[in-house]
Amino acid sequence: MTEIARLLTANEGYAAARANVHDSHPGRHLAVLTCMDARIDVFAALGLHLGEAHVIRNAGGRVTEDVLRSLALSSHVLGVDTVVVMQHTKCGLAGVTDQELRDLTGAELGFFPIDRHAEALREDIGLLASTPYLTPLKVVAGFVFDVESGEIDDVVRWERAAAK
Ligand SMILES: [Zn+2]
Repeated sequence: MTEIARLLTANEGYAAARANVHDSHPGRHLAVLTCMDARIDVFAALGLHLGEAHVIRNAGGRVTEDVLRSLALSSHVLGVDTVVVMQHTKCGLAGVTDQELRDLTGAELGFFPIDRHAEALREDIGLLASTPYLTPLKVVAGFVFDVESGEIDDVVRWERAAAK
């Protein structure tokens, strides 16, 4: 069986048994940005259920233009006011340089490599906090997920100052 056929076969059982969520607004007003790493089960790791959160994933869980595009819609259209940015240990983007990744892939892109997690999280959360159209966001947290223990290190927190 091909990989695609396996997926379609699995879906036959899923469709019949699935829990249906009708509201597209995340019930917990939450968006989680994390790495595409196959070892991270976002919903299980954070105790989330279907319908409760937006999950945005890319290499490294970094704040890119496309993440800003998604969060503009999350926050203005779908009621999200809290964002978790979750990097992880043993990430393929940690300890490498843009040039190494360009040489490896042949792609002349900015790969957003991570030197130190705390620094990269502060940078990304600073960007979310200062993006003018993301004013509906009230809280942004920066976590590092340990892919070996499954534990989370709560590294950075930003909260929007209340208007006076
Ligand atoms: Zn990663």
